[in-house]
Amino acid sequence: MMTANEIDAIKNILASPKKIIIIPHRNPDGDAMGSTLGLYHFLLKQKHQVTVISPNEFPNFLAWLPASEKVLIFEKEEHKCEDILDKSDFIFTLDFNALHRTGDIMKASLEKLDKTFMMIDHHELPDNYAKYTFSDTTYGSTCEMVYDFIDQLSEKNLIDKTIATCLYTGIVTDSGSFRFPKTTGKTHRIVADLIDKGVENNKVHNQLFDTSSYNRLLILGKALQNMKLLPEFKTTYITLSQAELDSFNYQKGDTEGIVNYGLSIAGIDFTAIFIENTAEGIIKISFRSEGDFDVNQFSRNYFGGGGHKNAAGGKSDKTLQETVLYFESILKEIKK
Ligand code: 5GP
Ligand code: MN
Repeated sequence: MMTANEIDAIKNILASPKKIIIIPHRNPDGDAMGSTLGLYHFLLKQKHQVTVISPNEFPNFLAWLPASEKVLIFEKEEHKCEDILDKSDFIFTLDFNALHRTGDIMKASLEKLDKTFMMIDHHELPDNYAKYTFSDTTYGSTCEMVYDFIDQLSEKNLIDKTIATCLYTGIVTDSGSFRFPKTTGKTHRIVADLIDKGVENNKVHNQLFDTSSYNRLLILGKALQNMKLLPEFKTTYITLSQAELDSFNYQKGDTEGIVNYGLSIAGIDFTAIFIENTAEGIIKISFRSEGDFDVNQFSRNYFGGGGHKNAAGGKSDKTLQETVLYFESILKEIKK
């Protein structure tokens, strides 16, 4: 929770109409888009001028979110976005806690700005670029934090069906449909309230999970065929090469959630997915664990990434094959 002083300061800032920017992390997921758009609709209702700027394109399975069509994409309209950033009064950054998570180019733009930032985020080890920080790793999603943020501003009555739908979306996606460990009674109480505010929960689930393409399932099939089992390390991993993705006409978002299959085998408590991205010249990696193994630390130590204890991301500049060999060598090292 924020301190009473911080809440008063934010209330003061928001007391008169402001030009506000809201930024999710690069490659935004359901929680990043749900929290930014939820906050967007809330601030609009308070008569602010609000713009959501996503560092890059968001996946198609989130394109039904209310006002997603108004989101500016920094990497597509750099000058326009920089101009709006320049003229802004206040910047929210949501669902990340280090500016490099917006990508190198946007990071450089943000670092040049002399603006007041507020961070709302649930990842480990926040950087200190923000004057106001609502950072708490006990939350399962940034959307729950935005709900509590609105509550702390004593404006819960402003949460309508639109805001609730955005926030519900991020809670569902970041909690793996209410099954990950940070899902609490409070999560369910917030969700209950959001449904009471009008969220058509069944419809949201359909839009998130039942709008897959045939090719997306073929990519999943390929991923599962590629899965390696390393029982001596209680580990599995999946690879997807660019050529494999291309052969199924890969679309952004198609690999979302595939990593979790690696944990669904009995006796496995650590898994990774390595996805080749030739355009960016990197292997994008996701790590997941069950129980005590800290993948946030693992990714920080070996793959320049981070995240949470049981879910983290990272990247590698090596080839796909080299990356996998490196990964296996680390496992052997750690076991020793
Ligand atoms: P995913 O594997 O779904 O991309 O990410 C898992 C979690 O780790 C998400 O909460 C995501 O925001 C975070 N994450 C992903 N990549 C990175 C990264 O490079 N650095 C940090 N600090 N967090 C990351
Ligand atoms: Mn999140």
